[in-house]
Amino acid sequence: MNIILLGPPGAGKGTQAQRLVESRDMMQLSTGDMLRAARTSGTEMGKMVAGVMDRGELVTDEIVIGLIREKLETGGAKGGYIFDGFPRTLAQADALGALLAELGQNLDYAIELAVNDEILVTRILGRAADAIAAGETARADDNEESLKTRLMAYYKQTSPLIGYYHAKGDLTSLNGLGTMDAVAADIARVLG
Ligand code: AMP
Repeated sequence: MNIILLGPPGAGKGTQAQRLVESRDMMQLSTGDMLRAARTSGTEMGKMVAGVMDRGELVTDEIVIGLIREKLETGGAKGGYIFDGFPRTLAQADALGALLAELGQNLDYAIELAVNDEILVTRILGRAADAIAAGETARADDNEESLKTRLMAYYKQTSPLIGYYHAKGDLTSLNGLGTMDAVAADIARVLG
């Protein structure tokens, strides 16, 4: 089973993906995590994308499609893949469809976690405050300025994917505003 978790930053995609990894042996493919790892390890690509990420803009399709291609070609997901934060553009969505087809696989569900902007801002700024309180470093892009850019990128570039997957018959929209457990239960119902 291969699924996409769709939704704006702070909708809970990462949290729900983690739960599916634990409960269903699925593999989480988060392009955000991969890009942050590239930055930490100081690769050329990591250096190239750092500024773009900190501003809250999208890195190029070519880079993220390359990252996903590499993971899919390596394989190893027993329970299937959870695409978290990918695709974020129509070009990425087309590329994902083509990559899965090449591997003889398909997409089972695109699950939208629907939330409203005010909650997102509260959640994301709360995430930054929690990290600092725990003595960790907050994500460089979890600040109000980047958040505005990230939300705008979501509405301009990513939200058209909702129509795209609806037209393909793959879309399920869930209320992402419930508790983590409630959202997890809704997802479990969709996946069966
Ligand atoms: P995330 O952890 O998913 O919120 O991603 C953090 C940042 O990484 C985003 O704001 C983008 O700069 C970059 N990024 C992650 N995934 C993608 C993607 N699929 N396409 C373009 N940029 C991405």
